[in-house]
Amino acid sequence: MSTMWPAPHGTRCDFCMAEAPLCLDIAPAARIVAELTDSRLYIDNEDWGACAECAALIADSRWLELLDRGIIGVMAFWNTPNTSENYRDYRAKLSFTLQGVFGSQWPDELCLW
Ligand SMILES: [Zn+2]
Repeated sequence: MSTMWPAPHGTRCDFCMAEAPLCLDIAPAARIVAELTDSRLYIDNEDWGACAECAALIADSRWLELLDRGIIGVMAFWNTPNTSENYRDYRAKLSFTLQGVFGSQWPDELCLW
């Protein structure tokens, strides 16, 4: 997903950061660049790989669950304190990014907070 991501493409789920194996590759509908609260730059420039759990949520269009799973996984991966401020920031950025990945499939209401 990202050149700034520490793991090479295909070694971790791009949605929740779970370790491979991955079982689904998705070519994003659009490419996103976003800056996180701590100034890490998030660059989406490759296909997105999904673990089995995320792939199942995607297959069933369970977008809110996919978003929550992603927020929790990414915050844990980065050892981000689970404060309401951090959660809101990750939620906003991840939802914006996933809208780029899924295009019109992504519910507009998940981009509002
Ligand atoms: Zn996953």
